[in-house]
Amino acid sequence: MVQKSLVLLKPDAVRRGITGEVLDRFEQTGLKIIGAKLLNAADPEVSHKHYYKDEEWHKKVGELNLKDCADLELDPMDIFGTKDAVEIGRIVNEWLFAYVEKGPIFAFVFEGPHAVEKIRSLVGPTYPVTAPPGTIRGDYGLDSTVTSLQRKRAVYNLIHASGTPEEAEYEIGLWFKPEELISYRRPEEDVYQY
Ligand code: GDP
Ligand code: MG
Repeated sequence: MVQKSLVLLKPDAVRRGITGEVLDRFEQTGLKIIGAKLLNAADPEVSHKHYYKDEEWHKKVGELNLKDCADLELDPMDIFGTKDAVEIGRIVNEWLFAYVEKGPIFAFVFEGPHAVEKIRSLVGPTYPVTAPPGTIRGDYGLDSTVTSLQRKRAVYNLIHASGTPEEAEYEIGLWFKPEELISYRRPEEDVYQY
């Protein structure tokens, strides 16, 4: 099942100069780069379409952030100016737009068998603190929930990777024109055909 996935190296990854190390991880597993683009920042129209989240997400994330505030003894009024979960979720959503609009962004399309799931497992879970060693976020992620809340911004977790094949198709269409994707064969595609 050959799939495509959109990968964004977010501003913290590009600025830290770990582009090569991150790409190594994907290339070593046989994932093939079929599109690449270095950008000053995400265009606001693209960022808003990319991180469009519905009210269900706002509520869920708002509730999680209220719980994080309680655990960390932070006052949600100081950080968000409200205690309403949906409103907090909307604010976090704004933080996501701002994160990729900061730039620079290095955007990639990878292709390979089960590429979506494979890349997500190499990247690791959203928060660097809970990302296991061996994953990109676990090995390189420096940011934490408390720091991001205090600074009123998204958690800097280095990388975005499409969550489903449908999401990948939508996201690739936002970031790349069809003619910007190329087609070629890696050696193992021939070697393993016996
Ligand atoms: P991902 O698919 O694992 O990247 O996670 P999501 O698509 O749910 O969220 C998009 C990005 O927003 C994440 O990669 C984080 O950088 C950031 N983010 C998500 N949820 C939160 C949150 O509750 N608080 C903060 N500060 N940032 C968040
Ligand atoms: Mg996501």
